[in-house]
Amino acid sequence: AFQAQDLAPPDVQFDVTRRFLADNDDNKINLGQGTYRDENGRPWVLPSVKMAKASLDEFNHEYLPILGFQPFRDEASRLLYKGTRALNEDTIASCQSLSGSGALLLVTLALKKLQSAPDTIYITDPTWVNHHLMFSIIGYKVEILPCYRDGAFDFDAYTASLRQAKAGSPVVLHTCAHNPTGCDPTKEQWKLIGSIIKENKLFPIFDSAYLGFNSGSFDEDAWPIRYFMEVLSVELAVCLSMAKSMGLYGERIGLVSFATLARESSQIAESVLQSVQRSTITAPPAYGARVATAVLSTPSIREQWQKDLVTMSSRIRLMRKRAYEELVRLQTPGDWSCIINQTGMFAFLGISKTQIKHLERKHHIFMVETSRLSIAGLNEHNVRRFAEALDETVRH
Ligand code: PLP
Repeated sequence: AFQAQDLAPPDVQFDVTRRFLADNDDNKINLGQGTYRDENGRPWVLPSVKMAKASLDEFNHEYLPILGFQPFRDEASRLLYKGTRALNEDTIASCQSLSGSGALLLVTLALKKLQSAPDTIYITDPTWVNHHLMFSIIGYKVEILPCYRDGAFDFDAYTASLRQAKAGSPVVLHTCAHNPTGCDPTKEQWKLIGSIIKENKLFPIFDSAYLGFNSGSFDEDAWPIRYFMEVLSVELAVCLSMAKSMGLYGERIGLVSFATLARESSQIAESVLQSVQRSTITAPPAYGARVATAVLSTPSIREQWQKDLVTMSSRIRLMRKRAYEELVRLQTPGDWSCIINQTGMFAFLGISKTQIKHLERKHHIFMVETSRLSIAGLNEHNVRRFAEALDETVRH
C-alpha cells in the first residue's frame, strides 16, 4: 500500500523547531515557532491559568457531549459576542473544537453541508500555511486574494480581488494580527471590506487565533466581527482559538460558532456542527475546556487573565521596538519600520531565502523561509544579538 508513494515532505514550520532543537549552539534563537515566550525565552503558564487549574474540583473522565462542554460554550460565546443582538436573541450556534484548527475544519465541513455545495474558498495571500492544506484536503478549490505589499496591507489589491469573488463562497478573514504579515486593515478599511462581502453575498469566516493577545483587549481585537454583525447584519462564522490567548496550545481548546439572523437558522447550524463533529472526532477533549471555563467564569481569575493579556501583548510590542532601535543604531541597510508598524506575534521581514539560511547556518537564528519571524522569541538577552546577526547578514 505504501511503496508507490513518495515520502510526504516535513511540515515547514514544525521542521524549523526540529532543526532548532538539533542545534547545539548555546546562543541559538528560535524565531520560527508561533508560541509566546517569557522574558527569559521560556514557555509561559499564565498566572490566570495556574489559578484556574488550582480551582478545579475533582472531576471524572467521562466523554463530553458531541458539541462539547456546555459551560465553556456559553462562556466563550458570551465573551465573543458581548453586546450583540445575536447573543441577546439567542441566534448563535456553537460547538467546542480542537483549538482554532479544529474550528476551521468544522466550519468548512459544515458549510459544505449547509450551502448548496460551495466549491471555492477565498484566503489571503500570503496566509497561515494550514489554510491551503486544510481547505484543499476537504475538497475546496482554494483561491487567493493578495493582501500584502512593501511591508503593509495592500487594500487596493485585496478589495479588487474580493470584488471578483464568486457569490455564496466562504472568505476567510484574519480578525487581527494577520499571520504571517502582521498587517491588518484599519477600521475604515474593514468597513469597506464588509460592504463588499455583503454586496457580493460572500460568507465571512473570521479566523480568530489572536483575540486579546494582539492589543491586550479582547473587545478591541473582536471589533471587526461585531461591526459585521451589528452594523452590516451579515451572518458569519467565527473560529476562536484559546491557544495564544490563554497559552493553552497543547490542550486544543477552541470554539466554532455561527452568528445567524434567526433562531431557526442557528438551530440548523448547530445540528450540522454536531453532525460534522461526530463524523470526525466524536467528542472534544475535556481538560482545556474546564480550565478555560474557570478562567472566564470566575471574576478574580478573569481579572488576572485580562492582566495576562496585557503582559503578553506589551512584551511583544516592546520587543518590536527594541529590535527596531537596535537596527537603527547599527544603521542596518534597509527600512525596518515594518517591525514596529506590524502587529501581533509575527513580523514579516521580506529578506531572501539565502539570507534566512545564512542566519541559521552562521548565527544559529531560526525562522521560517517566508521571512516571518516570531517576535515572541526575542527578549532582552537576545535582541541585540539578533539585530547584529541580521545586520551582518544584510551586509554579507
Ligand atoms: N489561524 C491562524 C491564522 C493561526 O495563526 C493559528 C495558529 O497559529 C490558528 C488559526 C490556530 O491554531 P491552533 O489550532 O493552535 O488554535
